[in-house]
Amino acid sequence: MRVKYKTKKVSSMNHYELVEVEFCCEDMKKAWEDYFVHFGSFPDDSFINGSNAVNIYRCYPEGVVEEMPIRYCPFCGKKIVVEEVLE
Ligand SMILES: [Zn+2]
Repeated sequence: MRVKYKTKKVSSMNHYELVEVEFCCEDMKKAWEDYFVHFGSFPDDSFINGSNAVNIYRCYPEGVVEEMPIRYCPFCGKKIVVEEVLE
């Protein structure tokens, strides 16, 4: 799986914007669409994505979301390649 992103500055913070994704398998595509696995932080009110990793999300009942970066697809085992593209 291959993910491309751009780095932008929002105020003084880095904001990582997804550019393109190529899925390794159908299971990963489904997990991505369901927001079980995705690029960056779980969306919140700030609209700033401070994570440039592919993460799985663990959601707690209090509304807290924990991110766990992954380097290999949990379904097919292929490597997850994350690349920055320059403007
Ligand atoms: Zn896969």
